[in-house]
Amino acid sequence: MIHTYRHFIGGQWHAPSGGQWIESVDPATAAVWTRIPRGNRADAALAVESAHAAFCHPSWGTGSREQRCQSLLDLADTLEQRWPELVEPEIRDNGKRIVEVEAQCRGLHTWYRYFARQALTIDPHPLDNQVPDITNTAHYHPYGVVIAITPWNSPLMIAAWKMAPALAAGNTIVIKPSEHASASTLEFARLCQASALPAGVVNVVTGWGHEVGEALVRHPLVRKVTFTGSEAGGSRVAAVAADSVLPVTLELGGKSSQLLFADADLDSAINGILAGIFLSNGQTCVAGSRLIVEKSIHREVVERIVQRARALRAGDPMNPATEIAPLANAAHLDKVLSMIAEAKAQGARCVCGGERIYPRDRPDGYYVAPTVFDPVSPQMSLWNEEVFGPVLAVAAFDSEEQALRMANETRYGLAAGVWTGNPQVADRMAAGLAVGTVYVNHYRSVSPGSPIGGVKRSGYGRELGPDAIKDFLQVKSVWKGAAAYPDPFPVQG
Ligand code: NAD
Repeated sequence: MIHTYRHFIGGQWHAPSGGQWIESVDPATAAVWTRIPRGNRADAALAVESAHAAFCHPSWGTGSREQRCQSLLDLADTLEQRWPELVEPEIRDNGKRIVEVEAQCRGLHTWYRYFARQALTIDPHPLDNQVPDITNTAHYHPYGVVIAITPWNSPLMIAAWKMAPALAAGNTIVIKPSEHASASTLEFARLCQASALPAGVVNVVTGWGHEVGEALVRHPLVRKVTFTGSEAGGSRVAAVAADSVLPVTLELGGKSSQLLFADADLDSAINGILAGIFLSNGQTCVAGSRLIVEKSIHREVVERIVQRARALRAGDPMNPATEIAPLANAAHLDKVLSMIAEAKAQGARCVCGGERIYPRDRPDGYYVAPTVFDPVSPQMSLWNEEVFGPVLAVAAFDSEEQALRMANETRYGLAAGVWTGNPQVADRMAAGLAVGTVYVNHYRSVSPGSPIGGVKRSGYGRELGPDAIKDFLQVKSVWKGAAAYPDPFPVQG
């Protein structure tokens, strides 16, 4: 019997008001494993109104920040104890390897703890208004109802990046997870229900983006939107939000480069390059999908990467020994295979993988072999378009200037890796790369204390870091006169 989920609204479980459901397919087996509600406008309205009521209640939006901090710490405690309950639903939904999902779920509580404590740091502060006898103070206020829209690749971690600072600031949330991977967010809602969070502070509504997602963004009680997903999805959400003059934070796609110089520690660099493109099957926003390598070591590096990639073991994502898991859904498998076919048709040389594979223990799953194309030229689609799959495009460079130019010639700007033994080269690259995050002799780390986000088509606004909570607060400037207000029209002579 297939489990059927419900929306989580106002602290209770609700069947979709339209009576419709979406089947969720396990990408390792291609079989339906659960059903999620197909939300509609009525579901969206109920969720936003519940979130608004919670925002107006003294236990949250208008309550004390100490109480909010305690509620979030209690949620963090619940997550620290019960995170294992979140692991299997996420793997069944998006096919990610158990080793990676366990690591993300085990660490979930840390995002909530970090921002719970930040709730206590939001104090009014004096402003330099440069007017005598009048004080001026900045006060910070939450927006109200925030809509958080998340993708399928790391549903709970990305939700935490949005929810933890938004809640710490005193907002309430309606989260709309991806139609391909909603189960773990609904299980997370169960843990919210078991924690000290007041009802209505966190609500989860599921369904299609163009249906319930847009209905949420259009609701008149909504005050802010935070979105992570594709460039097309983000652009559409921002356009819909603009109709109501809603502020939006967008975390979108990427085509991130790894710049490898001949003086780098090659063992370390190759580990980092493999991690950048083959962990999570390249289905990460910061996937290092382009390798820009110095000509003198080009051949050796590609040979070593190909040797390592060919040895990776594909199989059941629930098996801790598995190194390559399936892609997240059938449509995505088709997209990745068609981009591989296009790269071949455009003349890029496939030196590894480049095809669907059928692991013995999961022959029906949506698997693609780790793939390397070398060389790829700047005119080819593979050099410019995000694959969001295990596909590395390689090109060689002669000079530092050329490497930087190649890395920056993209419409995206999320992240980049620089591998070099020369600190001056590292600093010049870090300064010149047009991206939101640069990793030097390292790749892929994220932390609650470090901002993440993009430039150009990778989006705008930043998540995480010391200022993330401010993204969910509005400043109010309060002026107080200490002396009598002067007559504006003094009688002349
Ligand atoms: P997607 O844009 O298809 O969907 C993301 C979410 O947006 C889903 O919940 C979807 O239902 C919703 N959505 C889509 N259209 C909508 C609309 N018109 N109105 C409201 N909601 C709508 O993206 P995806 O395929 O789930 O995720 C993959 C993409 O996400 C990749 O491009 C990847 O780079 C990006 N991503 C970025 C980051 C980052 O931090 N920058 C992190 C992870 C993934």
